Amino acid sequence: MMMSSLTSWWPGPGEFALPELSGIMAKAASPVKVLLVVAHPDDESECAATIYRITHEVGGVVDQLVVTDGAGGLSFSAPALDYYGLRRSRVTGKELSRLRRGELLRAGKIIGIRHHYFLDQKDSGFTLDVDEGLRTWDLPRVRGELSSLLERERYDVVLTLLPTSDTHGHHKTVALLALEAVQAFPDSSRPVLMGVSTGSFEKTGAAFEELPGFPETRTTNGQPVWSFDRRTPLSLSAALDHSIIVNWVIAEHKSQGMFQMEYGRHTHEHFWQFAAGGERREAVWRPLLRHFAADSLLTPAVAA
Ligand SMILES: [Zn+2]
Repeated sequence: MMMSSLTSWWPGPGEFALPELSGIMAKAASPVKVLLVVAHPDDESECAATIYRITHEVGGVVDQLVVTDGAGGLSFSAPALDYYGLRRSRVTGKELSRLRRGELLRAGKIIGIRHHYFLDQKDSGFTLDVDEGLRTWDLPRVRGELSSLLERERYDVVLTLLPTSDTHGHHKTVALLALEAVQAFPDSSRPVLMGVSTGSFEKTGAAFEELPGFPETRTTNGQPVWSFDRRTPLSLSAALDHSIIVNWVIAEHKSQGMFQMEYGRHTHEHFWQFAAGGERREAVWRPLLRHFAADSLLTPAVAA
């Protein structure tokens, strides 16, 4: 399926017909407030360019909540441990967790994350099992922390990784917990719920309607409601683009060896909208797109 057939695109041609919204006005009027809810301290890379745009180009606020301690990510860490002056035989899960937290804080600084929240739940490594987290995590604590954060901050958007069948089981579990927490709010004050997945422009044909067996993960449309091309020039320099920001973020997560191979592999950040979001759904993200469009950042792929 061609991306041009999407009902909405980033930024869609229609977004340019709104002269009343200059970037400066948009910043002053209503800075968007976003909570990124993820399983691991590197998952923010999936939407690093978009987060950077929200914090640096729109004046929005983005916080990040990380559910696990990241202690399961020791594979392929040899070059990083050498870099940090550590011996693998002496690196405990606790030490890795501490390292990864530092990596995330540095990555978060690059993309402008305001606050990081760490729930330190057990990360036992890769699994496809959606139930593993439900069995092993302190669910009352995770649910309680997530709910009180949502209650206190009243985010406009809650963003999580798209819970596809083939993604890490922890990503799926976190998406389910985020959906549950958001649905506890009345429709009128419920944040918009988005799921993100990276890919290429050409290969986004993979539709996502819901995670089989979990109808609460149903999306409003099988295709992304909007997407961002990381090759879009930076507002600071037309000769440079947002993929630089993504590569900086990847580079900070040195302990995640295979992840270091991700440079330039994914050109697009695709966003699906969960049907469970509240009445404010499009009222929140459509103006956000207009803010970005006001900066006149149109990618060649979209222009075509
Ligand atoms: Zn992850």
